[in-house]
Amino acid sequence: PPSIVWFRDDLRLSDHPALRAAAKNAAKTGAPVICLYVLDDAAGRAPGAAARWWLAQSLRALGADIATRGGSLILRKGPAARVIAEVARESGARTVYWNGIAQPHQAVERQLEAALAKLGVDSQSFPGDLLAPPAAIRNKEGRGLRVFTPFWRRVLALGDPPKPLPAPKELGPAPTVASDTLETWKLEPGKPDWADGLRETWTPGEASARARLRDFLKHTAQGYVGDRDRPDREGTSRLSPHLRFGELSPRQVWHAARFAAEENPAIGPGVDKFLSELGWREFCRHLLHDHPNLATENLQANFDGFSWKPDAKALSAWQRGRTGYPIVDAGLRELWHTGVMHNRVRMVVASFLVKHLLIDWRDGETWFWDTLVDADAGSNPANWQWVAGCGADAAPYFRVFNPVLQGERFDPNGAYVRRWVPELKDVPPELIHQPWQATPIELASAGITLGKSYPHPIVDHAKGRERALAAYAKIRKG
Ligand code: FAD
Repeated sequence: PPSIVWFRDDLRLSDHPALRAAAKNAAKTGAPVICLYVLDDAAGRAPGAAARWWLAQSLRALGADIATRGGSLILRKGPAARVIAEVARESGARTVYWNGIAQPHQAVERQLEAALAKLGVDSQSFPGDLLAPPAAIRNKEGRGLRVFTPFWRRVLALGDPPKPLPAPKELGPAPTVASDTLETWKLEPGKPDWADGLRETWTPGEASARARLRDFLKHTAQGYVGDRDRPDREGTSRLSPHLRFGELSPRQVWHAARFAAEENPAIGPGVDKFLSELGWREFCRHLLHDHPNLATENLQANFDGFSWKPDAKALSAWQRGRTGYPIVDAGLRELWHTGVMHNRVRMVVASFLVKHLLIDWRDGETWFWDTLVDADAGSNPANWQWVAGCGADAAPYFRVFNPVLQGERFDPNGAYVRRWVPELKDVPPELIHQPWQATPIELASAGITLGKSYPHPIVDHAKGRERALAAYAKIRKG
């Protein structure tokens, strides 16, 4: 009888423990493997629009990779537990294999186990998504750690994670099981088609993820420590959406990076820093495991009484990159066009929303959720809570980023701003992060009319800062 491999946010063939186990069994018994993906918007958090675009491309790439091994990817839609049980019944499969994935609610796996048990079908699940399972990193009371540095120390103390597994060479012949077509799922935009920028920027899929990792280790890792905070440089790996969809596993990244650093010790410090960033991904997933409502509930309950100031107009100006602060606007426009934003700028725009505008972090988190191709159920809310000050290991509440100073420090010549806010392209570097300081003559010669071609700042920095500190002081006192 055949077996089923349930693909989830692990859209790859190598280092896929569930697939490896099914393929091994197939090699022994000759039983075919059914590769199945189920679109189930009710399990966990339904992906936003940009992530759905990525998902469609990634499924296409996975389907092609499976086809070169003689198999095919079966697509079904609906509640995962019910759909997988149906496929098992239709095909006579006796075992279903999958990798456990950190997600807001684990209920779907339990439901699946119950549905399969009723049919007398075995379930086998494997860890495949993390460097260390949450159970391995607990404090004395059995709870997860809330501070990153000790967390990461504990992960490092576990030593190297298991070596990645090879991809199976053969996956055929595929049994005939009915499959949807990707087109009927409408994951990609119809009209208007807003995905041009995504297509220009990205090639989803396992092969491209691996190529990007190799390229990073060869060319970028050496300068990573100095360049990672510079949005005007290509200083980071840009692996986040590939990791989000599991086109690459953290174990593969870990081992490739360690191996590269052994070959070339000059990249050692860059690799250590890079792996600790991967540690943040891990930390966020562990938080999600312990706090399934991470996207909606403040981790620090004293924030529940915070007096946010809902303001639809200001929120819309922020979303569109029309706040009048060039570094903030550049970030939000980069996000809209490419589906990602540089990490330093994510911190600046998030701080601007929750502190200068006093808009609830959940509004910003929701916008990111819909527009990021790497939108991640752990990393997105955990980082928003970190910036807002209500998270685990959060930035202190009095840290209010000054968007002018952040721009001047991390985009010193304004190249990043010029790229994403082209109406400012002729403003000289010393004014590009605060065009309102320019004289009328300087503005005219740069072709700018403040309030027309580019907005006035929607809030004054000093006043915004004071207002934020006053609001935060109130909740600190309780
Ligand atoms: P690199 O610097 O090359 O880092 C390597 C990998 O480490 C990344 O691909 C990512 O998987 C992980 N990583 C790096 N920084 C972080 C971090 N702070 N938290 C968690 N993982 C990290 N990252 C997401 O993957 N998805 C999100 O939805 C997301 N939302 C964010 C929201 C806010 C408000 C902020 C401040 C940060 C957010 N991040 C998120 C983290 C970070 O900005 C991105 O992971 C990073 O910009 C991706 O670029 P890179 O792959 O070139 O990173």
